[in-house]
Amino acid sequence: MKELVYGMDINCYRLRAAHVNLDNGKLEGDILEIYFNNKNYEEVLNSISNIIPRGSKIGISIPGVIDKNKLEVKLSINSRLGENVTLPRDLQEGGYLVKMSNDVVSEAHAENAFGIGNKDFALATYSTGFNAVPVLKGNVHFKPEFGHQSYDNFSKFICGCGIKGCLEVFVSGSGAGKMAQDYFNKNNTNNIIIKYGLDDFNKREGTSHDYNDLADYEIRSKIIDSVEGRHIYMAYDKNPHDDPQRFIRNLQLKAITESLNRIAVVYNPLDSIVLKGGLTDESDESKSWKNLFKPAIKAFHDMRLRDYSCNPDIYRTKIKEIGIVGGAVNWKKFIQS
Ligand SMILES: [Zn+2]
Repeated sequence: MKELVYGMDINCYRLRAAHVNLDNGKLEGDILEIYFNNKNYEEVLNSISNIIPRGSKIGISIPGVIDKNKLEVKLSINSRLGENVTLPRDLQEGGYLVKMSNDVVSEAHAENAFGIGNKDFALATYSTGFNAVPVLKGNVHFKPEFGHQSYDNFSKFICGCGIKGCLEVFVSGSGAGKMAQDYFNKNNTNNIIIKYGLDDFNKREGTSHDYNDLADYEIRSKIIDSVEGRHIYMAYDKNPHDDPQRFIRNLQLKAITESLNRIAVVYNPLDSIVLKGGLTDESDESKSWKNLFKPAIKAFHDMRLRDYSCNPDIYRTKIKEIGIVGGAVNWKKFIQS
C-alpha cells in the first residue's frame, strides 16, 4: 500500500512541506512554504494546521543538534525561530505524529533510498552553511563538525560556531556575504552588489530607497547588512573583473576545491560525492554552479594524477526537493538512529 507522509524541510528562515510517496520518494501535490520573517510563531503554527490535517504523519528535516525524544533542536545558531526550536514538539502536542532528524542525516538517508542507491558516498551540503557526511554500506555516519575544520587561522572572519577561520566561512553563501559586508564597511564605494542588496531590502521592508539614500550612514549600513552570498555570485556573473566579487569568488573557488579534496581524502574510499544545497543548484539565477562548483570540480579532478587516488565522481543530487523527501524518510522503517 502506498504510504503518504508529509515531509517538512525547516531551515533558518523558512519551512517547506509536501506529501511524499515513500515508495518512490516523489512529491505529490503542492508545496506549502512559510517564511518566518513575516509571521509570528502562532501564525506559523496556524498556517501549518490550515493546510496539513491533524493526525497526519510529519517527518522533519532540520539543522542543529537534535533531541529526538523531546522533539526539539538545540544550538540552532542561525535560526529565526530562536536558539532552541520547539516547533516539532509543538506540532506533536497539536495532534500530529512527528519524527525528525538532523537535516544532513535526513537527506543522506533520502539519497541512499531514492538517489544514488547502493554505493559508498558522501553527501555534501553547500548553502548558508556547509557539512558533509559519509554513507558507507547504506549506513549514515553523522559527522556534525566537518564544516568547522580550520581553514585559515589568520582570518578575521568568525564562523557561526564562534571559531575564527572555519572552512564553512570560506565555502558558504553566508561566508561570502560576510566578506562583502566587511569590504563595503571599510570602503566607501557602492557597486552592483549594493544595488542587489538595496532591491532586496526595499522588497522586504516595503521601502523605496534609492542610490542617493546611501549617503546616509544608517541607511547604507542597513543595506550592507542585507547583502547575501547570492548577490556576490550574481555580481560576479555580470562583472567578474570588479571587486569585491572577483576576490571573494576566487577565494571561495579555492576553498571549495579544498573542501572537496578533504571530503575525498578523509572519507576515502568513496564512489561519489553528491552535492546539494542552494549554491549547487544549476538553475539558480546567482550562477554559483557555473562560476564556483563547475570549476572547483574540474580543479579537483585535475589535481589527481592517477585515477584511483581518492577520485570519486562528483555531481549534484538528482532528487528534487531532497530536504522535503529527507524529512519524510524519517518515517521509513529502516531509520532507527
Ligand atoms: Zn565554525
